Amino acid sequence: MGVRDRIDGAPRSVIVVGAGIVGLSTAWFLQERGVEVTVVDRTGVAAGSSWGNAGWISPALAIPLNEPANLRFGLRSLLSRTAPLQVPLNSGPALWAFLARFAANSRPSAWRRAVRANAPLSAECIETYDVLVANGVDAPVTDAPITAIFRTSADAERLLDELRRFSEAGRPVFGTELTGAALRERVPLASAAVAAAVQIDDQRFLDPGRFVTALGRAVVERGAALHTMDVIDVSPADAGATVTGSDGTKLTAAAAVIANGAWLSRLADRWVRVPVRAGRGYSFTVPVDGPVTGPIYLPDARVACTPLNAKLRVAGTMEFGDPDGPIVPARVDAIVAATRPLLDGVRWDERTDVWVGPRPVSPDGRPVVGEVCPRTVYVAGGHGMWGLTHGPVTGRLLAEQITTGKQSAVLRELDPLR
Ligand SMILES: Cc1cc2nc3c(=O)[nH]c(=O)nc-3n(C[C@H](O)[C@H](O)[C@H](O)COP(=O)(O)OP(=O)(O)OC[C@H]3O[C@@H](n4cnc5c(N)ncnc54)[C@H](O)[C@@H]3O)c2cc1C
Repeated sequence: MGVRDRIDGAPRSVIVVGAGIVGLSTAWFLQERGVEVTVVDRTGVAAGSSWGNAGWISPALAIPLNEPANLRFGLRSLLSRTAPLQVPLNSGPALWAFLARFAANSRPSAWRRAVRANAPLSAECIETYDVLVANGVDAPVTDAPITAIFRTSADAERLLDELRRFSEAGRPVFGTELTGAALRERVPLASAAVAAAVQIDDQRFLDPGRFVTALGRAVVERGAALHTMDVIDVSPADAGATVTGSDGTKLTAAAAVIANGAWLSRLADRWVRVPVRAGRGYSFTVPVDGPVTGPIYLPDARVACTPLNAKLRVAGTMEFGDPDGPIVPARVDAIVAATRPLLDGVRWDERTDVWVGPRPVSPDGRPVVGEVCPRTVYVAGGHGMWGLTHGPVTGRLLAEQITTGKQSAVLRELDPLR
C-alpha cells in the first residue's frame, strides 16, 4: 500500500489492529467508503472478548458501569471470593490507580455524562446491525425481549428504579413487571424461588463467535487482507502509519486504527491518558430440559443467559486482572452457585465451552474512539460491558471521521485525548 495515498484528504489505505467486533466493524465501514483495508490480529478473528460473550444487542441495558450503586456493590465485594465482582488484593499499582479513577468517576454527574455519551450509540446500534446483515454479513440476529428475574417484587422494583434513572439521564427505557402465569410463560425455566420478572422488549441477541466470524469473512470477501501478527508498535511515519510486529515485520498505510480490546493501552498509552483495563468475564454452555424463549437476566447474580444452538450460554463475573490470565475455576463455580437456585431444568454438570474473555473497561464509562495523531493514527475501544452492542455503530462513526477528517458531536464525547 502506498503510504501517501490520499484522495481529497481521505486515506486510500488503512491498517486495523484487532479483529474483534470493533476492529472488524471499522474495517467494514471503511470499505463502504472505498478504503483499502488490512486487518491484523495476533491470533485471528474473534480471538478476544468478542467470542464467548452473552451475545446481547441491548440498547435498553447498555448502562455505563460507573453507576454509583456499582461502586457501593464493588466495595462490599472486595473481601468476598464468590462475589460477581473480583479485584485481586495483590493487584499492582496501575490497576489500583485505574480503580481509584473509576471510583472518582462513579459520581452521579459523571455517570449521567456517560449515559448521554453512550445514548447515540444505543439509539443506532440495532439499525447498524441491520445494515451489516442486509449487506452480506451472513449470521442470524434474533429479535426478542430480555427478561430479568427476581426472588421478590422489591428486587424487581430496584431494576425498574435503575431503568427510570437511566431514562432520566437521557436514554428512555421501559420495563414491564411480570408475576404469576405471565412470568412462567415468559421464562419456563424460572424456579419456584422466582417471584417477579421485568420484561424489556425490542432487544436482539446473536451467537457472537458466529457473527464476528461472518463479519470477518465479509471483510475479506470485500477485498481486505487479514494477517496474523502480534503488533508491538503503531507509529505515525512518512505522512502515514507504520505497524510493527513482534517478528520485526512492518506494514505501512495512510492510516492505522488500534482496536485491540482490553490490550489497547499497551499500544496507545503514549497518546491516550484514559486507561483501558481488562474486566474479565466468564461463560459456559449448558443443556436445558425446557424451552428458553429469549435471554434471561439475573441482575442480583450479575448473570446473563442466552439461548444459543438449543442450549443456554451462561455468562457473568467482572474480575479485574491480566487479560491473558488463565480461567479461575472458582469463578465458574460461583456463577453456577448464584444461578442454580433461580433456574430449573438446567444440567449444570454437563457444562461445556468454559471461556474467559477480557472486557475492555474505561474508568469513566465512555469508550475511547477517535484520532490520536492527526489523520494517521486512531483508536477504537473501551466499550466495557457493551462492546458487542456498540461495536458496529462505533465502526460506522469512526470510518466517517477517518475519511472526512470531521469529528462528529457523538465522537467528541468519546475523544481518546480527553
Ligand atoms: C462474559 C462477557 C459477556 C459479555 N456480554 C456482552 C453482551 O451481551 N453484549 C455486549 O454488548 N457486550 C458484551 N460483552 C462485552 C463485549 O464482549 C466486549 O465489549 C467486546 O467484545 C469488545 O470488542 P473489541 O473488538 O473491542 O475487543 P476484542 O473482541 O477483545 O478484540 C480485540 C482483538 O485484538 C487482538 N489483539 C490484542 N492485542 C493485539 C496485538 N498486540 N496485536 C494484534 N492483535 C491484538 C486480540 O487477539 C483480539 O482478537 C461481554 C463480555 C464478556 C467478557
